[in-house]
Amino acid sequence: MPTPLAHAFLVWPLVEAASRGRAKPSFVIFAALSAVLPDIDLLAYVFNVNESEFFGHRGFTHSVVFAFLAAAAIAFFYARKKSGWLKAFLVFLAASLSHSFFDALSDTAVGVAFFLPFFEVRLLFSWRPIAGSLKTLHDAGLFEIITAPLVLFETFRLILPAAAIALSFRFFALWKTKRFYKNFSPEPAMFQEEKRKI
Ligand SMILES: [Zn+2]
Repeated sequence: MPTPLAHAFLVWPLVEAASRGRAKPSFVIFAALSAVLPDIDLLAYVFNVNESEFFGHRGFTHSVVFAFLAAAAIAFFYARKKSGWLKAFLVFLAASLSHSFFDALSDTAVGVAFFLPFFEVRLLFSWRPIAGSLKTLHDAGLFEIITAPLVLFETFRLILPAAAIALSFRFFALWKTKRFYKNFSPEPAMFQEEKRKI
């Protein structure tokens, strides 16, 4: 499974694309929260809830219905005093759905309950290129953790590429703004007058 940190980074390019490279930090943070929230069901392990149960890991909180409810609630909280509720809702919905989508692409045995509460079926894609479970790192030391295949995979194949794409959106927006002011911004008439005198 991608770790919560990887889920958070994977939605950053989407947020920047939706904001044309000018996403506010608070918007990025709320979208990251939407992408991480489905894993709140990891608490199920603390309470010994079996994975196959409704609130077990990758159960209801990984469903499409939960994604809609969570996105609506988070967008309401985020945008209550601003316009743009719909845009926030759509981005948070995509962020939340992306979580289940990436989980279903991961090398694991725990399927994703996309269709709860209507159907109990747990699904995984037949092609699962995303590296496996964090559980193997449970008793590992710090060096083993930072050199573990999962951590290296996430850092170099998920987190850094996602950050690079997101930052390229921001740089492109910045470059466009600078070019605009360089080429099209008329100089105030007063300065033009001064120049002519010189
Ligand atoms: Zn998950």
